[in-house]
Amino acid sequence: EPVLRLEGIEKGYNLGRPNEVRVLRGASVDIAPGEVVALVAPSGAGKSTLLHIAGLLDTPDAGRVMIGGQDLSRASDRARTEARRGLVGFVYQFHHLLPEFSAVENIVLPQLAHGIAQDPAEARARDLLGRVGLDHRLEHRPGTLSGGEQQRVAFCRALSNAPRLLLADEPTGNLDPETSDTVFDTLMGLVRETGMAALIATHNPGLAARMDRRLKLSGGVLVPA
Ligand code: ADP
Ligand code: ADP
Repeated sequence: EPVLRLEGIEKGYNLGRPNEVRVLRGASVDIAPGEVVALVAPSGAGKSTLLHIAGLLDTPDAGRVMIGGQDLSRASDRARTEARRGLVGFVYQFHHLLPEFSAVENIVLPQLAHGIAQDPAEARARDLLGRVGLDHRLEHRPGTLSGGEQQRVAFCRALSNAPRLLLADEPTGNLDPETSDTVFDTLMGLVRETGMAALIATHNPGLAARMDRRLKLSGGVLVPA
């Protein structure tokens, strides 16, 4: 069973008005456990729209979104929020870490918000940071970490609630190419190890080439790139 199934997703803006845009016109994809899929699309093709729908931040006009076999397309806002917190992790180009908190705290806080107790949350934070090679940076605030280190903390945060699905938008976009490759390999390792599925938008052909499969948005549908 796929972790993520998108089935005939349609999404437009300002429908029926002169400035109507039909962004997605029947986009479909299945992503299996442990599979890392690249989404390569020119700016404006609908990459953010697709990631927001897959991540339950936005609802499609038509089509089905299934995560872990659960059809969430028509679930209530509350059920979708609940599912998003439990099933989906997000990584962005800019890490959005909390500057006044340490690396560990940045990974503990989302877990506390999810009802996990302090001790297990902290144990998980330390374990995740160790796995990405940051044992020696546990108590550092983001501002005292390198760009590559900050982004690795952001990955750990995205994984803090053990999501089934990882969504990323240019996760290494602001890093130099060498750091970007190292950070990305770390991410791939974590995804495969945990059997998550990942959909990762990138303009970087080198990164896309390291993934299992490449898709592009063309005319509002997903096709092999
Ligand atoms: P990408 O992430 O690939 O750059 P987006 O999904 O952000 O693309 O946007 C796809 C298209 O939909 C663009 O033409 C954009 O202008 C339009 N669009 C996105 N969000 C909105 C919105 N809230 N209202 C109107 N148009 C939007
Ligand atoms: P990387 O190549 O791994 O991104 P850098 O060469 O940028 O790392 O940084 C090397 C080390 O210097 C890192 O371990 C980081 O903790 C530290 N460092 C980087 N920027 C700062 C900063 N602004 N303040 C304090 N320490 C920093």
